[in-house]
This record gives sequence, C-alpha cells and structure tokens, in this order.
Amino acid sequence: MVAVRESRRFVTILRTAALILGAAALAGSVAAAAGADNSTVPAAVAQSAHAFITRAALEGPIRFLSSDLLEGRGPGTRGDQLTRLYLQTRLEGMGYQPAFANGAWQQPFDIVGIRSQMPRSWHFQGKTERIDLAWRDDYIAASGLQSESVSVDDAELVFVGYGIQAPEFKWDDFKGANLTGKILVMMNNDPDWDPNLFAGKRRLYYGRWTYKYESAARQGAAGAIIIHTTPSAGYPWQVVQSSWGGEQFELPAGNEARLRVKAWATEEAMRRLLKSSGHDLDKLVASARSRDFKPVPLGIRTSLAFTNKLSSVQTANVGGVLPGSDAGLAAQVVVLSAHHDHFGIGEPDASGDRIYHGAVDNASGCAQVLAVAQALAALPERPRRSMLALFVAGEERGLLGSSYYAQHPSFPAGHIAANINIDGGNIFGRTRDATLISLGKSSLDEVAMRVAASQGRVVKPDQFPDRGYYYRSDQFAFARIGVPALFFSNGTDYVGRPANWGRQQIEEWELKKYHQPGDRLDGSWNFDGMIEDAQLDMMSAWLIAQADAMPTWKPGDEFEAARKRALAAQGSQ
Ligand SMILES: [Zn+2]
Repeated sequence: MVAVRESRRFVTILRTAALILGAAALAGSVAAAAGADNSTVPAAVAQSAHAFITRAALEGPIRFLSSDLLEGRGPGTRGDQLTRLYLQTRLEGMGYQPAFANGAWQQPFDIVGIRSQMPRSWHFQGKTERIDLAWRDDYIAASGLQSESVSVDDAELVFVGYGIQAPEFKWDDFKGANLTGKILVMMNNDPDWDPNLFAGKRRLYYGRWTYKYESAARQGAAGAIIIHTTPSAGYPWQVVQSSWGGEQFELPAGNEARLRVKAWATEEAMRRLLKSSGHDLDKLVASARSRDFKPVPLGIRTSLAFTNKLSSVQTANVGGVLPGSDAGLAAQVVVLSAHHDHFGIGEPDASGDRIYHGAVDNASGCAQVLAVAQALAALPERPRRSMLALFVAGEERGLLGSSYYAQHPSFPAGHIAANINIDGGNIFGRTRDATLISLGKSSLDEVAMRVAASQGRVVKPDQFPDRGYYYRSDQFAFARIGVPALFFSNGTDYVGRPANWGRQQIEEWELKKYHQPGDRLDGSWNFDGMIEDAQLDMMSAWLIAQADAMPTWKPGDEFEAARKRALAAQGSQ
C-alpha cells in the first residue's frame, strides 16, 4: 500500500488508518465452510484451497522475502533481482507459463527519480503588490517534467474550482476556457455535500491530487497549485511537506500531457496571495460549489525556474499464466496481483535496523498469491478463463509497476475479467468479518459475499471511506483501464477477542511497524486469518474464471466509461 504519497513518514500522522490496508482480509472458519451452504464453490475447489493454502505455504516465502539477505527489496537492487528470480522460479515450478512476449517471465521498466531544487521563495505579482510564498512553510512543489531545468515564464493564475470534468455528473469546471500556459489554482477533494453527486463523502478519483494534476495537464496548463486544507486533503500540511519535499519517482515520460510544476500551497498562503488582487478565497470556494461555476482569472502572474537531479533504475514485473481450459474464454484472464517491492535499506529505527523488511507489506501478499496460484494449478480441471499471477514492482514508489503493466498489458484490457489484488495480510488471527475496500463498485461484490458467506463470514464496507484506500494500491491501476477489482482489507471482528481488540492491534501495528524496519516476521504472527483470507481470494478467483460473463461495474461508476472503451477496442462482448 502506498501511503498518502509513498512516504513512510506519514505513519505517525495516519496512525488511525486501518492498516495492513491492503490485506486480503477475510477470515473465516473452515469448520463453518464445511457446514454452510457451499453450493457456489465445488468441493474440489474448496479442497484445493485447504490443501495448498496453509501456514507452511505462506510462512516460507514470507521468511525468505523479508530476510536480511533480500535487503528490503528496493527497486533496482540485488535484493530486487533475487526477489524476481525467486518468484519466477516458483511460478515455473507450479507449471505456469511465462506471461510476457518471447517467453519472458519479467517485464522490465525504468523508474525515474527526480530531486528538485525549488526556490526558497516563489514570487507572484498581484495587481498592486508582490507576494512571496516561502518554500515548505507556504508552498511545496515538484517538477512535472523529467528534465534538468524547468521554467515557467510570466504565467497567469486562474482559479478553476475543483478542476473536475465529469460527464457522468454533468460537471465541468473549465467550461471551454483557454487555459493553455496558465497556472491553475484548484481546490482539493470533490463535491461532497450531496450523496448523489460524486458519491457524497466518499472520495472518488476526481478528489485526489493525482487527478487534479492530470486534469490541469489535459487543459494545457503550465502548472497547478492545489490549495491544502486538512479536511479536504484528509491529512495535515506536514504530510504534504514530507511527501513532496524529497525525491519523486515516476515512469519515464511518454507522450502524455505534462505540467511544468505541480504545487501545493497552504490555505493561509493562498488567502494572502488572492487578497493581493482583491479576491476573497471563501467567496471563490463558495462559487465553485455549483455546476455553473466558470474559471476566474485572478490578475496574478508568476515566473518560476528550478533545476532537477535525475536518476534512473531498472526493475521488473514478474508474471506467469495458467492457461484457461475453455477454448472460448481462455483468451480472457483473471489477474491475481501483489507488489514485490519495498523500501530497501534506509534510515535506521531505534534498534539500529536499517533494512525495511516489508514482511507484511508485501512479502505476505506475494506469499498469498503464490499459494493461491498453486491451489488453482492443482485443481483436477483448470479454470475456464486463464489466470495471471502478477508480482508488480515499484508499488511503494507510486503504483509504478502496475501502471506500467496497465499501459503495456500482456492481455488486452478488454480481456482482463478482473483483478484480485493482495497488499498486506492479517497476522492477528481469524475474524468474523471482512472489509471489502472495493464494495459498491462492481458485480464482484456478489462474488465476495457468496464466498465469504460460505466461510461463515460477513463482508463490511471500507471503514475509512474518506481516505481513498481504493486508489492506494495496485488495483487502482487496473481500474483506470476499466478492469473491476476485488480488494479486501483486514476485518476487525476477531474470533475470541473483545470488540475493540482488532482495531487496537491494527492501529498499534501501523504506528510501530508500518513502513518501518520493524515490519518483520516474528513468533507473534497468527496465520489463521491470512490462510482463510487467501482461501477466499482463491475461491473468488475460481468463480470469476468460471462465470459465463465477465464482471461489470455498477452503472454510473467512475470507471465504467474506461471499461466500455476497453471492450469496444477489443470488440468483445
Ligand atoms: Zn507499503
């Protein structure tokens, strides 16, 4: 799981987040499964799940991947190479086929690192006076271009409200205005006061900073400044400082539209800046809460120049395919994914440990995908659709491997039935519930509920819907190309424990271990919940692979249009 922005430094700030955010989170009862209505999952499938998804199958790979010898699996390191070789070798041993062209198990790509030297003070010329914003205290910015020097020359600032174009909500903040070369000043979040508009309080992709910068780039803008407020971001200014102040990581630039500068400013600084030209921030914000809003030129101009130090490392996704048994459906695939990277070697913790072992995050996800892949391969009859076990790289750097795969998929997007992503794992024992982060978005909900019920468990929605967890692990890269995802997180209702116990464990783990060297395998782990979670993923994968039709988004979902484009491109369905 990427933090708000791939930094391990948010831990203390986000201590209340439900951690192990990406877990395959179900837990349930084998005993209950045996006695409950199991009609949707044939006995042979449940038997294979129980035979191959075991503590030994999970613990061995976790011990190996999180060991000191793998040095934290930082992208481009020897530990990264060893990790990939291990995963590829395991898939080969299970009878999977290489997933990529020319018999390749790996899909290499470069990660570009950008370290920007921003000016101490960013000057703006208002109607009558000059205003300076101070680096870190007032503004934070990152380069939008992968070049050694970048400049913006006498650009005008334009307030564009939320900066959103969403035809499904009949919302367009730009109204055809010519914004080429401008600096767009934008609010964070999306309209959240009406449950029928942008899903109310639930933050959609339109409300995330990645969307804001992409939206501004599509307008041909030179830059964008997002106005930070703690409620609209979901985190305080310090998080913006720590996550955007250092090196940024990206895929190599392609031919997509790019801004020159991607900035944030504090609400106080922006209020001061706007006042210099006779504008009132509160009035502008109020005017943006309407479909009739039009961009407001602010009468403020700015120039900016900065330099970048660029670096590049190569890493790779690893994938293997279990070909489908149905001649018609084998061209379609269910993708089981887990990211294999972590932070490598870095700042030491209090004990002096410098290795970021990433045992939960995400050696445990890799181990679960391996066990699920094995259980599927061992079935007496192969699933109808093909299965792709995909271990993506560079997740902690910003979902880079899954984004690269989505841009260069080994199966066309319109042939990818679903993504089941596993990021983290339950190490505290069995739960009666499962948190389905993707709940409410697609027909996969029904699959999850059927299988969970067969295990005697209930499915619960994302317990922190304003935090956007759906957009913070690799399933999001698949959603963007229209592929519906099944993505669970830990349940919180632990068998044999008091009501609040699970939440306490999760919060304490996040505070002390999440994205820190202490995320390592130890004797305290209880694998019972993780085993049942992975079994749930395996049985769900099987059901998706067997169904006559591919899963569908709920009508009006933010990613439905991408699916329609992908299907049209394939001429399928
Ligand atoms: Zn992580």
